Amino acid sequence: MKISMVSEHASPLAALGGVDAGGQNVHVAALSSSLASRGHQVTVYTRRDDPDLPAKVQVAPGLSVVHVDAGPACHIPKDELLPFMGELADGICRDWADSVPDVVHAHFWMSGLAAIQASRRAGAAEHVAVVQTFHALGSVKRRHQGSADTSPPARAWLEPWVGRTADWVIATCPDEVFELKALGIGRSRISIAPCGVDLNLFPGTGEPESKARTHRILSVGRLVPRKGVDLVIQALPLLAEAGFDDVELLIVGGSGDALNLEEDPEAQRLRALTKELGVEDKVTMRGQVPRDAMPGIFRSADAVVCAPWYEPFGIVPLEAMACGVPVVAAAVGGLRETVVNQKTGLHVPPRDPEAIADAVARLLGDPALRAEMGRAGSRRARSRYSWDRIAADTEKAYRSVLAAGLSRQAGEGLAEPLEGTAL
Ligand code: UDP
Repeated sequence: MKISMVSEHASPLAALGGVDAGGQNVHVAALSSSLASRGHQVTVYTRRDDPDLPAKVQVAPGLSVVHVDAGPACHIPKDELLPFMGELADGICRDWADSVPDVVHAHFWMSGLAAIQASRRAGAAEHVAVVQTFHALGSVKRRHQGSADTSPPARAWLEPWVGRTADWVIATCPDEVFELKALGIGRSRISIAPCGVDLNLFPGTGEPESKARTHRILSVGRLVPRKGVDLVIQALPLLAEAGFDDVELLIVGGSGDALNLEEDPEAQRLRALTKELGVEDKVTMRGQVPRDAMPGIFRSADAVVCAPWYEPFGIVPLEAMACGVPVVAAAVGGLRETVVNQKTGLHVPPRDPEAIADAVARLLGDPALRAEMGRAGSRRARSRYSWDRIAADTEKAYRSVLAAGLSRQAGEGLAEPLEGTAL
């Protein structure tokens, strides 16, 4: 198959850990490369955010990344990218001039707008089939972030429109299916394909990096308030009270390396909190870490804590599990599915530092339990979350769309919802 991926803000080639660079980048990179390994021709379209980027990068046989000129060639926060989706669609159409793909798979709601536009303009008799993965939903974000949500207001109606107009929607977990149905998207056009973990990069055994204290707990991810890293910091004094004083919290992620975290507002907020709680000597902020350094870091941890307020999927717990490390996970979104409570880790209620401290204390105090949960996590990651398996599920969704002829006639349903929108 000839497959186009659209990932407006999340380039598969970007450095990870900044505010807008995390799971979606990993997902698009790994899924695209697994599909290419299965013999498909995959092109990823992403917005040019640096003037020095080449127009096209051949990443591997069958896999290339096209940087499309859409808005200024510099970093723009993803919540300000909506006005440039029309230009992104134009660039995609230009690249399709010689031959259109069999399917265009959009990642995040704004990519869906560009993909639908491109699919209608491509000039084929029928529009190119559009498959949509949202990665995150505005309805969920609004529920949790309220007035702190910086998404453009039009997301509230454009996102459900994308879901209803795409030929197929791939959800990453059952929780998301529930949310999609609430947006009026028919269950018969939704399938589930979770995010995966790169089992070559994160093998079951390997060298851990050394740690500074008896115990290390680890938090990995974009440094944004909803990831709940502050809750893990708040758990440190409680852990000390419970007798676990020689504990280091390593925080990976942020908008630069450790030296550049001074300019990261969330890093500064977290640092202030460590001072306020008197735990600054226990907390190390590593900043952005390249992919190949992550396995040794995961393995050095006695427990990985994922304490988000909400989480569409969450690849970090899978990486921890693949490395044989137990996970303390807030029982929200995709984490309820990936982390099996009492088997591969411990569930805690969201926004609850006491529960985090209790769960971590239980793991730190019981090496045999840690080892058993680590082994169970590694087995689970290997048996269910390989990217090859997820690429096969995704390919199945593409084939169903094409075989069932779900592609609707070009232009159908387009005029009304997009009228007046700056695309
Ligand atoms: N990550 C990384 N280096 C960093 C910070 C994060 O490689 O400095 C990776 C992390 O290992 C994971 C991804 O970024 O693969 C974060 O994905 P997740 O789905 O957990 O969170 P999201 O970014 O989607 O909210």
